[in-house]
Amino acid sequence: MPMDGRTCVVTGSARGIGRGIAERLGEEGANVVINYRSSEGPAYETVEAIEDLGGEAIAAQADVTNREEVERMREACHEAFGPADVLVNNAGITADTQFVDMSREEWERVMDVNLGGMFNCTQAFYDDIWNAEEGRLINISSVVGKQGNFGQANYAAAKSGMFGFTRTIALELAQGGSTANCVAPGFTHTDMLETVPQKVLDRIIASIPLERLAEVEDVAATVRFLASEESSYITGEVIDVNGGMDL
Ligand code: NAP
Repeated sequence: MPMDGRTCVVTGSARGIGRGIAERLGEEGANVVINYRSSEGPAYETVEAIEDLGGEAIAAQADVTNREEVERMREACHEAFGPADVLVNNAGITADTQFVDMSREEWERVMDVNLGGMFNCTQAFYDDIWNAEEGRLINISSVVGKQGNFGQANYAAAKSGMFGFTRTIALELAQGGSTANCVAPGFTHTDMLETVPQKVLDRIIASIPLERLAEVEDVAATVRFLASEESSYITGEVIDVNGGMDL
């Protein structure tokens, strides 16, 4: 299997896109670290789901904004499986409001998780990825980072910040033979869209050439490809999974 024996850490993987990624990697033979902040029950359910698919997984609690907790997650990964080959920075939040009403706290909260969490986890696992045979850093950005979106100045800034970070780390990792890429999903069926009113969703779907939202499986399949050795000559890229929203 393509991911056989590869150790993958997926942040925020007890639910949503992260869970879809974790299950796909586990199904294909990876050892998976299921990171969660507060979704403990779903994290252990994800571990069981991966074990049922024939893979191996552990759950590791860590708020990605907390360096000590991220260090403990790295230790748990090393103890269970050894160094990581793949880190998927997936954990993310929104705090939507028009810019005129946006508080400094809403700005910082979104930066802290989406960019600060990526910084903490990448730094913790950087040596693992550098030393791995075909190490991979995969950052989950968003179509919003490319296009912007009404009421999401903080989130759009964080998600486009991931592009510059990824390109730079791609340059720095290249000498060690490892890669860094971004995946930029379009609007995807998860809890994150729960607060979006149906009439706004209908307007979004009408603007998507493929006429549907993304499913977590669409994103997971792309991450699976980037995480495998099959993608070894792709680095510093942003791969869109958005149903043609840029066309
Ligand atoms: P979601 O259903 O809201 O899940 C968010 C995940 O992030 C949860 O697993 C949550 O863990 C985790 N998380 C949040 N803050 C965290 C923290 N401080 N430390 C550790 N984990 C934390 O979101 P989603 O839709 O699956 O989104 C996943 C990623 O895809 C995000 O980066 C998001 O920006 C991006 N994305 C989503 C969409 C979309 O339309 N859904 C589109 C483009 C990009 P707990 O439950 O344990 O707190």
